[in-house]
Amino acid sequence: MTETRVTIIGGGLAGSEAALYLERLRIQSVLYEMRPKHMTSAHKTGNLGELICSNSLKSKRTDTGAGLLKAELKILGSILIELAENFDLKSGAGLTVDRELFSSEITEKITSSPFIDLKREEISDIKNLSKPIIIATGPLTSENFTESLKSIIGEQFLHFYDAISPIIEWDSIDKEKGFFESRYGKGDENIFNLPMTGDEYRLFYSELIKAEVVDMHDPDKMIYFESCLPVEEIARRGEKSLVFGPLKPVGFTNDNARKAEAVVQLRPENKEGSSFNLIGFQTRLKYSEQKRIFKMIPGLENAEFLRFGSMHRNTFVNSPVVLSENLMLKSAGQIYLAGQLSGVEGYIESIMSGLINALAVYHLISGREFYLPPVETITGGIIRRLITFSENFQPVNANFGILPETISKVRDKKAKRKMQAEIALRAMENWANVFKI
Ligand SMILES: Cc1cc2nc3c(=O)[nH]c(=O)nc-3n(C[C@H](O)[C@H](O)[C@H](O)COP(=O)(O)OP(=O)(O)OC[C@H]3O[C@@H](n4cnc5c(N)ncnc54)[C@H](O)[C@@H]3O)c2cc1C
Repeated sequence: MTETRVTIIGGGLAGSEAALYLERLRIQSVLYEMRPKHMTSAHKTGNLGELICSNSLKSKRTDTGAGLLKAELKILGSILIELAENFDLKSGAGLTVDRELFSSEITEKITSSPFIDLKREEISDIKNLSKPIIIATGPLTSENFTESLKSIIGEQFLHFYDAISPIIEWDSIDKEKGFFESRYGKGDENIFNLPMTGDEYRLFYSELIKAEVVDMHDPDKMIYFESCLPVEEIARRGEKSLVFGPLKPVGFTNDNARKAEAVVQLRPENKEGSSFNLIGFQTRLKYSEQKRIFKMIPGLENAEFLRFGSMHRNTFVNSPVVLSENLMLKSAGQIYLAGQLSGVEGYIESIMSGLINALAVYHLISGREFYLPPVETITGGIIRRLITFSENFQPVNANFGILPETISKVRDKKAKRKMQAEIALRAMENWANVFKI
């Protein structure tokens, strides 16, 4: 056992995984968690590793991004994924856990660990904490701490993030119903457009304005940014507000668009063009409603959603600017960011981030070189997104769009995914073997 104690701030999914994984590597840590003394606006208990919203850790199938990421994490011996499986409600194809049992067990494991010193206090400054430090305070990082982080990271790198638009798998879009063109020929030629007739638009609109939205924990405090209003919110301002806004059918040479009542635009998510986001469709609609209503857009009838739109207060950093290749802050040595704050999006992604940061810290402490997870894995893809420059960095989740197009000649989507998953899992096994995990 080494004498070095790692400081971990935040006992959510990322921080708990990091502490328990370090325990597995026989590294001591001190874990600071502010709840239950100081609650966030979304957490309901003082438990560590609480799932704040849904209790789903998504699909188990390795031909989905979430399923493949979980399979990769199992190879690495993720503690939280193992616990989640222990509390699987087996209610369908996904990994749905009993949230209470899951977080109670995490709390029990941490409180009884001889390797982890749990301190229930809010950290508002890291000046007096011993390094290495893993900051895993999540999307609801306390205000005091956010302020003090700005003095290390820089104000411009911390964003208050209000909404995200759905991401659709390119292969699931009916290309016959749309065309590539940018409005007025300006900007990105990779924008894909889906025109809607007057009848199609009116039907879509009438469903959109009466659709069910997610019940926010504190709706009174929800302040929308005018430039990033949820699509249903714009729609409620009048039937024409969308067609004068994100769906305006102007600036196109395409005949169908010129006759259209509205044009929905999609922007590629990655350079391979395997996934596209719906421009201006940031939304607070329930996932089931997003599926139902956005599939009414001609061309999206069979859309597969790689990510649904969502709306909540969300603090994250512009990680490509802030993080170095060894995953430490560029502005301060031996300080790591994990979880949602570091720019990943989602439960499993946050668990993954806690695990990878624990491994990086372990290598730092033991004086060994740390190599990033292979590029062929979802884990490696997400981590690389965090440290690779992008004009408009957005939180990254597990999806096949982040994998390299190594087998682009395979046309059949199912066969292709199967091969990609096999390659990813083999690459992860090799990586784990090198590290003797
Ligand atoms: C309202 C809401 C709903 C969401 N729903 C989903 C969903 O359904 N599915 C999904 O995949 N993702 C969802 N997310 C994203 C979700 O937050 C992350 O997926 C995941 O919980 C992030 O893990 P984390 O460890 O980074 O943060 P968290 O799990 O939030 O953990 C951070 C911890 O740090 C603690 N903390 C904060 N500041 C301090 C401080 N200064 N000192 C000490 N402790 C501190 C907090 O109390 C918390 O326990 C949701 C996010 C929000 C905000």
